[in-house]
Amino acid sequence: MAISHIWFTGGCIRCSACAYAAPQVFELPAGGDATVQGCARRDGIGTSEDAFALAVIDDDQEQRIRDAADGCPVAIIHIRENG
Ligand code: SF4
Repeated sequence: MAISHIWFTGGCIRCSACAYAAPQVFELPAGGDATVQGCARRDGIGTSEDAFALAVIDDDQEQRIRDAADGCPVAIIHIRENG
């Protein structure tokens, strides 16, 4: 199944682990919590959960996102899969 959305629950400790695991997907804005880079999402398409709808990504990026979610020390990265 493909990952269609990513969202965060509160409590990011800004450790950068997600941005290290998937640098083309996650970023840490200056002074802010981790987010999904604009180039990795379909801007303007949100959900009631404030999830980021992902642009088309390849298998490598999907695995990197899964690794980032698994590796987040406070477990606040969530993914939704379609298919
Ligand atoms: S891995 Fe988790 S805690 Fe660390 S920067 Fe990313 S979202 Fe925040």
